[in-house]
Amino acid sequence: MSHPILIAAELKGLLEPQQLDGLDVTWIAADEPTPKGDWVAIVPLLSRWVGGTELKSLPNLRIVANCAVGYDNVDVVAAEMRKVIVTNTPDVLTDATADLTWALILACARRLVEAIDLVRSGRWTGWHPEQLLGVELRGRTLGLFGAGRIGQAVGRRAVPFGLRVIYAARAPKPDFERDTGATRVEWPRLLAESDVLSLHAPSTPETKGIVNTETLGRMKPGAILVNTARGDLIREEALAIALEEGRLGAAGLDVYADEPAILPRLRAAPRTVLLPHIGSATHDTRRKMAAIALANVQAVLRGQPPLTPVYR
Ligand code: NAP
Repeated sequence: MSHPILIAAELKGLLEPQQLDGLDVTWIAADEPTPKGDWVAIVPLLSRWVGGTELKSLPNLRIVANCAVGYDNVDVVAAEMRKVIVTNTPDVLTDATADLTWALILACARRLVEAIDLVRSGRWTGWHPEQLLGVELRGRTLGLFGAGRIGQAVGRRAVPFGLRVIYAARAPKPDFERDTGATRVEWPRLLAESDVLSLHAPSTPETKGIVNTETLGRMKPGAILVNTARGDLIREEALAIALEEGRLGAAGLDVYADEPAILPRLRAAPRTVLLPHIGSATHDTRRKMAAIALANVQAVLRGQPPLTPVYR
């Protein structure tokens, strides 16, 4: 028997035929609304909202296999009430996202965007001892807001760069502390002591807007803010103003509150490195994410437990 399933059309090129064995696939493009019907599984991208209305329109649905580790695009409470399993794609994207976080940290600290623009413009007049001076990382403090899989991977990479690591998370991370010398602190101390503040917590009611006018005002003058978590952790207007006023040293962002729109004031702000949500965008990782999403679907349709459920 073949199972009717909805899969984001953008995943077609990342999937092998055997991963679709026994499935009767309807491909849906990102700009198409979620259809109504008898599908038993859906594999959405993070840009597709799957809420109460969508779940009601899919009465036979057994699993939402989100193709991302973050699942703020799924109403998990509504899904649980309807006994619909929700899965994500943890671990396989940790290194890719941690690497990209470091690309942003280094690009901010060493002013790579300004440097590239200077070379491209043809206005570079040669080596100058005071040209494009950046921030030396050794001896400075990296603050991690959220120290789960990705936050810890970013922290582990900080050790060879000679940064002291502090972090805020709900629970202590003894292995991480032992391996990196990191110290757990409360959010106010994280703000006050970080030379580089990097966000790695999910988007939840507690974390939304946690970087705002007031908290930006408590950061060190000249500090670097990096966000590869979710855009709505930051109040973007407040960030743009802090950059315009020169209070913040730089901001490296991969994610935005209203993707793919970026607040014009933030896009125009000085000393930013703005990327188009490419944290997990490596060939290997994207294939593995699609593979895990489909493996979750296949397991659930065989009556087995999902590999990576977001609730138990
Ligand atoms: P994870 O392992 O679940 O880690 C999340 C961390 O956030 C945990 O340390 C957790 O603390 C902490 N946290 C949650 N709520 C908090 C709060 N209110 N205050 C302080 N800390 C809090 O998730 P992950 O795999 O590292 O992924 C992190 C996020 O990165 C995802 O949710 C996703 O949105 C984002 N992401 C983005 C990209 C991209 O393309 N840019 C790629 C992958 C992931 P405890 O450990 O104490 O519970």
